[in-house]
Amino acid sequence: MKQLKFKNGDSMDAIGLGTWKSDKGKVTDAVRIALENGYRHIDCAATYGNEKEVGDALVEVFGKGEIKRKEVWVTSKLWNNAHKKEDVIPALKKTLEDLQLEYLDLYLIHWPVAFKPEINGFPEGPDDYLSLEEVPLIETWNEMIKAQKDGLVKHIGVSNFSRQKLQRLMAQTDHHPEMNQVEMHPYLQQKNLLEFCNKNSIRVTAYSPLGSGDRPDNLKADNEPSLLENPVIKEIAEKHEASAGQILIKWSVQRGTAVIPKSTNEKRIKENLESDKIQLDEKDMKKIADLDRHYRYVTGKFFEVEGNSYQNIYDD
Ligand code: NDP
Repeated sequence: MKQLKFKNGDSMDAIGLGTWKSDKGKVTDAVRIALENGYRHIDCAATYGNEKEVGDALVEVFGKGEIKRKEVWVTSKLWNNAHKKEDVIPALKKTLEDLQLEYLDLYLIHWPVAFKPEINGFPEGPDDYLSLEEVPLIETWNEMIKAQKDGLVKHIGVSNFSRQKLQRLMAQTDHHPEMNQVEMHPYLQQKNLLEFCNKNSIRVTAYSPLGSGDRPDNLKADNEPSLLENPVIKEIAEKHEASAGQILIKWSVQRGTAVIPKSTNEKRIKENLESDKIQLDEKDMKKIADLDRHYRYVTGKFFEVEGNSYQNIYDD
């Protein structure tokens, strides 16, 4: 399995298991099955509402003794209602309690957007937000640094950050993010962002690599293009006697990013990890490169409420 290396010598498996939208009743089995079949990287977040159930699987698997805590890479993310200085470490501690872990391998600022602390779900109007003037990202970031120094997390990073937001944050601190987790797949290749991250030693994790087909309807656009049904992807899949999903996953790995496909289905959990055995050739990679259409499934539009200060999540 290809790995992403960190400065201190740590490494993270390029293929991990996503857990957004994984039902509480299914995610414990999904994580256990994943770990028993070779996954060593699990992607979580407080806002997915299932960290306790993910934690139950971790406790069960570590309890059996065959897989040790230090062999598994666990990522989680700080939700938008805990950006204030005094809220970051308590939110992290709640995640650790739910996951039933002593430390995380990686903790990310989930979005460059802050809500008032009392907003648990999604904001309903501009008054539910805190502006970047009220809670600058550097305030949140400095607490992330503190959490790392205190040993609660091994590595820290961000998610859904544009180049501009990364640059702005990096200009304010010598302690740069080690990871940016963003949407990335053949329809949204983000070449400039990837190049910027590569140049600045910021590793990249590709989320929604399969097109995030199980998102709730209110987060979907009409007539979304399907990655899994794309004829070029299907043709390459046929050539390699693989599934379309496997081609999408391996494409991310061969571009040098990590990738975290979500599944709660045993067959697909296994299939997704097995994509590592495929080797896409130059022709395949070129054909997929030509599919870019700058199409986002997770638009962030739900944060662009008129009257708040987040009118441009991605391009500011
Ligand atoms: P994905 O692109 O991973 O797609 C998940 C969907 O694909 C599910 O419906 C799943 O169904 C199905 N699926 C899984 N494997 C296959 C396969 N081999 N063939 C066909 N269908 C398949 O969507 P996500 O949006 O969930 O992204 C992955 C992960 O990235 C998230 O779970 C989360 O951990 C992270 N993420 C992070 C975000 C952030 O803001 N940082 C935002 C979005 C995602 P089934 O379960 O039935 O197999």
